[in-house]
Amino acid sequence: MAEELLSDAAVRRKLGAVDRALEKAYGPPRRRRRRTALGSLIATILSQNTNDANSGRAYDAMRAAFPTWLEVMNADPGALEDVLRPGGLARTKARRIQDILRDIAARGPLDLEYLRKLPAEEAEHELLAFDGVGLKTARCVLVFALGKDAFPMDTHIERVLKRLGIVPERMVVEKAHRYIQPLVPKGRSYALHLGLIAHGRRVCHARTPACARCVLRRNCAYYKRHHMRAVAGSVKP
Ligand code: SF4
Repeated sequence: MAEELLSDAAVRRKLGAVDRALEKAYGPPRRRRRRTALGSLIATILSQNTNDANSGRAYDAMRAAFPTWLEVMNADPGALEDVLRPGGLARTKARRIQDILRDIAARGPLDLEYLRKLPAEEAEHELLAFDGVGLKTARCVLVFALGKDAFPMDTHIERVLKRLGIVPERMVVEKAHRYIQPLVPKGRSYALHLGLIAHGRRVCHARTPACARCVLRRNCAYYKRHHMRAVAGSVKP
């Protein structure tokens, strides 16, 4: 059976209800320590395909070994790769980081603070021009470093939004990023992003979602499908 696509108005209503329920369950999000835009971009690249602890270790090791971005850019690639090893994919990430730094240096000073003055869409466009930077990475920089109303989707968020029936099951993540941004309640990207990650980690687990204690049940397509199937299975003819 073809999956039903909700109207934009229905998705907006549902996201609003989810946002309120998550804030009630987990409290208002705490502001993280803000990095510079460039520091945030490099840290987000290091976080690709690994966890926060490992990428944090790699970032700190890199800053200790090469305290300025100029030193990171000019570092021997093997030496940079060595310090990035705790974060995994060290060779790819070292090359990507040095390429980005060279791109920026070719245009002017080694920073990205000018992005603060741009509207979110324009700043996103600038970040996407770097090799190896996709929508998730760009929007992490926009929301965490630049304080813009941008909504990045990680694997927890994608899973929860698909189970809720807000993002269609078969929609690929790049398309889902573009689909969902205009439907997120204004000014709530940061809070909703963190709330959904918390929910994906604590309740809506990848293998076995803990639906019995989930505050989003009333709004969840997955729960309705499975609950109704269970109820139907328990009714004797
Ligand atoms: Fe996830 Fe279950 Fe909650 Fe739906 S009801 S969001 S599937 S935990």
